[in-house]
Amino acid sequence: MIRQIPTADRKTLEQNLKRLRLPHIRNILDDVNELALEEEPSYLDFLAYVVNKEVEHRDKTQQEKRMKRACFPQIKTLEEFDFSFQNSISQQSIYDLATLQFIEAKENIIFLGPPGVGKSHLAIALGVKAVLKGYQVRFYTLTDLIAELYAALADNSLDRKINNILKNDLIILDELGYVSMDETASDHIFQLVTKAYENRSLIVTSNLDFGEWGTLFVNMSTAAAILDRLLHHAHVFNLRGNSYRVRNRLIQPTTKITVTTG
Ligand code: ADP
Ligand code: MG
Repeated sequence: MIRQIPTADRKTLEQNLKRLRLPHIRNILDDVNELALEEEPSYLDFLAYVVNKEVEHRDKTQQEKRMKRACFPQIKTLEEFDFSFQNSISQQSIYDLATLQFIEAKENIIFLGPPGVGKSHLAIALGVKAVLKGYQVRFYTLTDLIAELYAALADNSLDRKINNILKNDLIILDELGYVSMDETASDHIFQLVTKAYENRSLIVTSNLDFGEWGTLFVNMSTAAAILDRLLHHAHVFNLRGNSYRVRNRLIQPTTKITVTTG
């Protein structure tokens, strides 16, 4: 049998790449061709290189999509979190969580503390890590979540909505404590937390201690039932200290200003 590799027909190659949905290779054809002429890699190395370019590109676009779908209000990272300012929690325990084993174990994280101590920052930073690692994440402020669930109730799609939210590996509920919930909203959050229990991970932030959660939900027993499920497998952090937002007003200036005249 005579085996022969025919001379490439550019148009057919491009059509085939399109058919196989390899748009990136199509875009970089000229560049990689030029590189190969320069470097003369083995044919296998060349093939591996080109295929890898498509894979990298695909990973990147999917990551961007996941990042967008997560709806983070801003991007925050663990690297920019100053643990010497916020020293009521151990850096090690947060970095342990950043391995994201808690998502595999379907565990929850709860950040409690007054305004400005870094609760949302840490929640987002862990969420960002999860997105980068390939997990589906969704950030909600509690106010937005309640509004969305109310809207879903109004058009008879509450179950679908909750199930869709639970398709995420990690759901962040930020700012529990600023709005009190009526019976309907309390029930919606109860349903979400119950369905997420041992099935999905939640990160919850709150300015209220657990003892005060009764005032948030319609009654103590709903609050207790929600806490029961949330806390069964949970990492709880009590953040204390001053607000990072007003730190400059708290820190005394240490640099002397010398004025030289003459
Ligand atoms: P909280 O959610 O507890 O009210 P945030 O996480 O929103 O507070 O923090 C308020 C602002 O201060 C944010 O811009 C956040 O990035 C920043 N911040 C808070 N704590 C720290 C910290 N320890 N290191 C760096 N930035 C911080
Ligand atoms: Mg916050």
